[in-house]
Amino acid sequence: MAKQRLIPKPLSKVALSDYDPDYHGDYDKESAAAEYEKLQTRFAELQEILYAQSTQSLLIVLQATDTGGKDGTIKSVFRDVNPQGISVASFKQPTTEDLAHDFLWRIHKKTPEKGQIVIFNRSHYEDVLVVRVNNLVPKTRWQKYYEHINAFEKLLADSSTRILKFYLHISKEEQKERLLARLEDPTKHWKFAIGDIKAREQWEDYQKAYEAAMTRCNTEYAPWHIVPANRKWYRNLVVTKAVVETLESMDLKYPPAEPGLDKVVIPD
Ligand code: AMP
Ligand code: MG
Repeated sequence: MAKQRLIPKPLSKVALSDYDPDYHGDYDKESAAAEYEKLQTRFAELQEILYAQSTQSLLIVLQATDTGGKDGTIKSVFRDVNPQGISVASFKQPTTEDLAHDFLWRIHKKTPEKGQIVIFNRSHYEDVLVVRVNNLVPKTRWQKYYEHINAFEKLLADSSTRILKFYLHISKEEQKERLLARLEDPTKHWKFAIGDIKAREQWEDYQKAYEAAMTRCNTEYAPWHIVPANRKWYRNLVVTKAVVETLESMDLKYPPAEPGLDKVVIPD
């Protein structure tokens, strides 16, 4: 398979039609599973050190259309990590209190403390996606959000938080299949919101809104990853790999022992 970029070139215009949601590189299901298991082991080791060192943090932003696989990614990619060092913040429709503040107010409160990993299941990007597509605030307002988002993410990056943003890229046909599967399976009915049909009808508008977000907010300090996500096994591998590579680059070290620890005698 011809190699496909994972991260768009910074400042280049993103066209999602350049990204194949079926792409799986040189992997098949088996070779991907083998590599995924190895990476999971390394991920758990690195997370332990991040937690012990407690000087840096990691923020993972997950965005996708309905059925894109955000929940499945969280369950699979973070399955082996120590729950004390990780949490998930899910952003639904803003509350009245949220709406009485600026759009980043509810987001900022959920950013990770040092030593922690936080996963955003949806995020501040909803304010340039659902909000933009449905004109929930005037264009003159949401137009300025891209700049605010870049400045906000820079603030976090300058405060020892590494940021990784993932767009789980599925095709419209794949979404149809997944929505049908949800309709057919009573244990998945809770995931089906009738409003999701409206969002599907707005598919093209959403794709444009995603392209704008990934064009304008793809910075070196907070890069977007366009994850081919029609195949769950490839999606999980790609996200795990990006997280592990980032942690590897963070110069993680266990903190030094307290002076005198080598002379400690454990009393009987
Ligand atoms: P789900 O993630 O499937 O539970 O759905 C959450 C819903 O909340 C989605 O339809 C989102 O588009 C919506 N949502 C999240 N953030 C916002 C926001 N800032 N403004 C309006 N709707 C939002
Ligand atoms: Mg939903």
